[in-house]
Amino acid sequence: MVALETQGLTKDFRGFRAVNEVNLRVTQGAIHALVGPNGAGKTTLFNLLTGFLKPSAGRVFLLGEEVTGLAPFEIARRGVARSFQIARLFAHLTALEHVVLALQRPTLYPYRFWMSEQVLGRFKPKALEILALVGLEDQALRPAGTLPYGQKRALELALALALEPQLLLLDEPTAGMGLEDVARTVQLIHRLRQGRTIVLVEHNMGVVAELAERVTVLQYGSVLAEGSYAEMRQDPRVIEAYLGA
Ligand code: ADP
Repeated sequence: MVALETQGLTKDFRGFRAVNEVNLRVTQGAIHALVGPNGAGKTTLFNLLTGFLKPSAGRVFLLGEEVTGLAPFEIARRGVARSFQIARLFAHLTALEHVVLALQRPTLYPYRFWMSEQVLGRFKPKALEILALVGLEDQALRPAGTLPYGQKRALELALALALEPQLLLLDEPTAGMGLEDVARTVQLIHRLRQGRTIVLVEHNMGVVAELAERVTVLQYGSVLAEGSYAEMRQDPRVIEAYLGA
C-alpha cells in the first residue's frame, strides 16, 4: 500500500524551479527520509504535500486519494499532520492546554476554540496520554514558554499526534538539539510510529540511519537517488552532492 505518492510534482517561484518533477512513493507504515543539501527543495516539497503551497504542475495522492491543490485544513482532515522546524507555541498556555486545543478538531467545534472547564475535563485524559507518549507527563501544567528547547519540540510532536494522523511529516525533528535530546527524539519517533507512516526531513545522517527504511536524496529540486540508507551511503552521486567523502 502506498501512503503518499507524487507524480511530476513541480514548483516554480517566478521562474526559479524549487521542486522539479518529483515522483515520490512512500509505503504505508514506513519511515521515509528526505535528505539533501540546503536549498534542495525539501521544505518546499513539504509545503506542497501539506497544501501550504500550490504546485505549478504535478499531482499529490494521499492514501489513494488525490489532494492536489487542497487547502492545509482539508489535507489535515485526511489524516496528515506536520511538525515545523521551529516550534510554534503559545508561551503562556500550558503544555496540557496546547494538547487540549489540538484535540478539539474542527469537526467537533467548527468555528472556535473553547477552553471551558467542561472542555478541559473532556479532553484532559486523552491529552495526558499524549503528553506521556512524548515524555512530557510531568510538564503538563508548565507554560510552554518555560519549557527547554527539546521539550518544546516534543510538545510540537504531541500537537501533531493529537490529530491522530496516519501520515506524519516531520521537518528536521532533531535540528538544533544536543546529543541527549537527539537520542531521546529518535526513541520517541520509534515509539510514536505505531503503524503510522512518517516522512522526515533530516540532516543528521546518524538519525536517518537509525530511523529510515528508505531515503530520497534531493538536489536542485530533483530526485538525485533513492534507496536504503546503506545504498545511499555508498552511492557516488550522493557522496559527491551531499555526504562528502
Ligand atoms: P531546503 O528545504 O531543501 O533547504 P527549500 O525548499 O527551502 O530547500 O528551498 C528550495 C529553493 O527554493 C531555494 O533556492 C529557495 O531559496 C527557494 N525558495 C523557497 N521558497 C521560496 C519562495 N517563497 N520564493 C522564492 N524562492 C523560494
